[in-house]
Amino acid sequence: MTSQRTQRILDGLSELFPDAHCELAHRNAYELAVAVVLSAQTTDASVNKVTPALFEKYPDAAALAAGDLHDIEQCIARLGLYRNKARAIQGMAKGMCEHFDGQVPSSMEALVTLPGVGRKCANVILAECYNVPSLAVDTHVHRISRRLRLAGENDSVLETEKKLCRKIPKDRWIRTHHQMIFFGRYLCHARNPKCEKCPFTDLCSYYRTAHVK
Ligand code: SF4
Repeated sequence: MTSQRTQRILDGLSELFPDAHCELAHRNAYELAVAVVLSAQTTDASVNKVTPALFEKYPDAAALAAGDLHDIEQCIARLGLYRNKARAIQGMAKGMCEHFDGQVPSSMEALVTLPGVGRKCANVILAECYNVPSLAVDTHVHRISRRLRLAGENDSVLETEKKLCRKIPKDRWIRTHHQMIFFGRYLCHARNPKCEKCPFTDLCSYYRTAHVK
């Protein structure tokens, strides 16, 4: 059963961000899988600037798997770590072609066998492309979970995911994931969060610490 505390957080997030959604531009599962891998340690907005040209040249996994690595690098060269990322997306595309008929698989077990796809990426793909209840823990979700004490201060990403999934009703996982990301992106920043606009100050360990002299 959802605690009153958790329910208050869920309701507050829904009031703040009723329309939270995935901000990585994509038209299908292949494009989202590529965009998610590219989004590591960079913003969705940066990824969205490079993917239109990339997908124009490489419209599916088969094309990307067969592509010239140097050319793929050039397509995404505006992103940090672009060489590693080019190798990662091509490796993932090759994995799709070799084992999944060029398609993006629809189970966690299969997704994490693809090079470059970790549990967070897989959860995003499952939720967004296949509507499978999933709660991906990225840097925003991790930080907010600790600040609002939905997870412990020293919990790993996986422990945080498990705790969130226990505390939040399954039919709210996908929505809450997006709302926590919006909350982290637009309000509860890692540095200088906008606490004056936040409805959760009385629940927040960060706020308490920052305001105790
Ligand atoms: S009070 Fe500040 S740090 Fe705490 S959850 Fe709200 S915005 Fe984030």
